[in-house]
Amino acid sequence: MSPVAYWNHYHRPATVQEAVALLARHEGRARVVGGGTDLLLEIQQGHRPRVEALVDPTFITDLDRIEEEGGFLVIGCGVTHSRIVADPRLRAHATCLVEGCGVIGGPQVRNVATLAGNIAHALPAGDGTIGLLTLDGEIEVADLEGKRWVPIADAFLGPGKSCVDASRMLITRMRFRPCAPGEGSAYRRVMRPQGVALPMIALGARLRLDGEQIEAARVAIGPAGPVPFLAVRTMAQLRGRPASADTFREAAETALQEASLRDSPHRATAAYRTEMIRTQLPRTLAKAAERARTGHAEPEGVGL
Ligand SMILES: Cc1cc2nc3c(=O)[nH]c(=O)nc-3n(C[C@H](O)[C@H](O)[C@H](O)COP(=O)(O)OP(=O)(O)OC[C@H]3O[C@@H](n4cnc5c(N)ncnc54)[C@H](O)[C@@H]3O)c2cc1C
Repeated sequence: MSPVAYWNHYHRPATVQEAVALLARHEGRARVVGGGTDLLLEIQQGHRPRVEALVDPTFITDLDRIEEEGGFLVIGCGVTHSRIVADPRLRAHATCLVEGCGVIGGPQVRNVATLAGNIAHALPAGDGTIGLLTLDGEIEVADLEGKRWVPIADAFLGPGKSCVDASRMLITRMRFRPCAPGEGSAYRRVMRPQGVALPMIALGARLRLDGEQIEAARVAIGPAGPVPFLAVRTMAQLRGRPASADTFREAAETALQEASLRDSPHRATAAYRTEMIRTQLPRTLAKAAERARTGHAEPEGVGL
């Protein structure tokens, strides 16, 4: 490898089998790339070693699509955040995912960056990641042994670490059950108005209502621990309760007990982030409930 090159070969495989074979051929010295908005900066800034080769699966036919399959909405690893934001099915039936992907970077980033890359990067506050976790999504992982679906809630091992070793495996697709009648979802992120572009807190909620009673609930928070955080005690508490302001206020208190919030010089103090959960989680839950009641969901705060 030349001393200035960040990589020597750029491969565009035509099939998943070819992609995993290419990774295997480079014996751990190649890496999957999507839009490159995380990876290339990390290599350039010396936070990640240079690689011998990049393997780009985003041109594989079928993996650049959003489609319905067996009751799931399925998103290929070549699909960018901009395409997710623009898709009418996702806007209506996966609103929290659209709202998460829609606040990532600016249009230039969203036009090339992928949801698969956001998940594989495995940060505890990845906006698309928290959106998919809220939806109870799964990722399809491919390697030399074949393909398997993994619940996204089981995919993370630590900050920046997932079960997907991108020098040997790739995420080929992501899927989830879309919101049906009686269901709604919402996503809210609190950022510093100026300075470092890191979220102070990101909140995702999905509710299924039976009349005014909550039948099922998902709540995801980032960053609230070393991995994208699913607030399981809060979810259990919400089930069977009325979809009311009191219920949502109590849910925020439970979420605060189970979340792990730290002072961060780049984000905010733990005390400030506590207040953000206390005020913003009830609003996020109320928005998801409103969408579940009305069957109408217009994503908010997203850039196109
Ligand atoms: C200016 C700027 C602003 C940003 N703002 C935000 C923000 O607000 N919120 C946020 O969450 N992120 C933000 N990001 C980070 C980044 O854009 C997202 O994480 C994006 O979704 C990464 O996708 P990508 O396709 O560019 O990934 P890449 O950079 O190509 O890859 C990221 C990681 O995932 C691996 N990878 C990529 N695709 C696959 C695959 N199919 N299978 C297995 N591994 C894979 C790569 O090897 C690498 O380790 C920002 C980045 C920039 C440069």
